[in-house]
Amino acid sequence: MQRIIVIGAGSGGVMAANRMRRALGPDEAGITVLERSDHHIYQPGFVPLLFDLEKPENLVRPTRDLFLNGIDLISDEATLISPKDNKVTTAQGGDLFYDYLVIATGAQLYLDEPAGMREGLEKAERVFTFYTLDGALKLRDALGRLDGGTIVSSAAEMPIKCLAAPVKFILLAESVMRMKGKRDNYKFILTVPTLSVPPNIEPYASALEAILKSRGIEVMLDFTPATVDSENGTLEDFKGNRVNFDLLAIIPPHEGQDLLQNSPEVGDPVGWVPCDKNKLLHTKVDNIYVIGDAGAFPSGKTASGAREQAKVLAQRMREHIKGREPEAIYDGHTVCPIYTRHGRAMFAEFDYDRSISPAKESYIKWLIHIHVLRRLYWNFMLKGLM
Ligand SMILES: Cc1cc2nc3c(=O)[nH]c(=O)nc-3n(C[C@H](O)[C@H](O)[C@H](O)COP(=O)(O)OP(=O)(O)OC[C@H]3O[C@@H](n4cnc5c(N)ncnc54)[C@H](O)[C@@H]3O)c2cc1C
Repeated sequence: MQRIIVIGAGSGGVMAANRMRRALGPDEAGITVLERSDHHIYQPGFVPLLFDLEKPENLVRPTRDLFLNGIDLISDEATLISPKDNKVTTAQGGDLFYDYLVIATGAQLYLDEPAGMREGLEKAERVFTFYTLDGALKLRDALGRLDGGTIVSSAAEMPIKCLAAPVKFILLAESVMRMKGKRDNYKFILTVPTLSVPPNIEPYASALEAILKSRGIEVMLDFTPATVDSENGTLEDFKGNRVNFDLLAIIPPHEGQDLLQNSPEVGDPVGWVPCDKNKLLHTKVDNIYVIGDAGAFPSGKTASGAREQAKVLAQRMREHIKGREPEAIYDGHTVCPIYTRHGRAMFAEFDYDRSISPAKESYIKWLIHIHVLRRLYWNFMLKGLM
């Protein structure tokens, strides 16, 4: 019997473990998941939460409830991966040995840059991030208290999870203030470090740029924040461009987990896992797979991408264990739902080679995004049923 260890029980790890359990009999593979957190969070719900379109209790479930029978969950933190010994060291329980390792540890936020951001977030008076549940709740309350001024949405650096999230936020904020009859009290600004509007893929980038323009939202491209001054409400980039704000929603830079920064044979210096973008295999170690945000995939960091990767991974693992050459490949398929206003959404759907869905806003897509996706996630996607 082969021993498979999955590190991380976020979107990718849970989907992968459950899919592998369905694909492999208990006598073929033992599947162990190592996770440091006792709860799992549905992060795509953070944006609707900001505008009271979602409730926090719908976004969190105990990790132990997410797995099929026949999967062992160990509540511990992985601290080191030693690929030569096929070994994972944990913070409390000692060493674990594997035949195949799946890294699904996601991304972490780097709070030391831009300068002043961490202090601003800690004060939580004018500077917020909706990239954690706690941060999203604070921003929701601040938006409720605000009565006019300049709202700035800023992505500090790329890559980030859900590339289009800063655009979703500013479009929805503008739309909600318009619905409240307070649009004229506000100025809205989006800053991104890229040369086009995220998700930086056509036709979606141009379509979103046109929507932002039509709604009077100022867009500052190629803006990489260097400093956040929460006292005076200013955000300045490395070229000296300055934006004033009353409320700043900033997306901090992302990096891979400490585990991977501390395991140099597995992670790169920023903690991303170098991998074959189609086979999901580590570029240097042939029994280590990576899925989800932890991987250096060019397709971006989304739960929808992790779901497709989990399907491919389970098929490949079955082939390995049955002694056959795996053929399943990940083509980069990703769906990124983008709220464009209250009552409208667009799906940016693409793979490594092409854009798939039209850049069209629709009410149906809004309904799917707000009312259907979360239910599908908990009841079907995580279980590996779709
Ligand atoms: C605001 C926001 C909006 C988003 N919107 C969308 C969207 O609309 N559509 C979409 O598809 N995606 C969206 N995403 C992205 C999506 O949530 C992530 O891409 C997805 O969760 C990635 O899954 P993952 O398993 O790679 O990482 P995660 O779900 O983050 O899970 C990683 C897990 O690994 C665990 N872990 C890490 N290190 C260790 C360790 N050393 N030992 C043990 N356990 C460890 C963590 O505790 C965590 O449970 C959004 C994200 C955010 C923040």
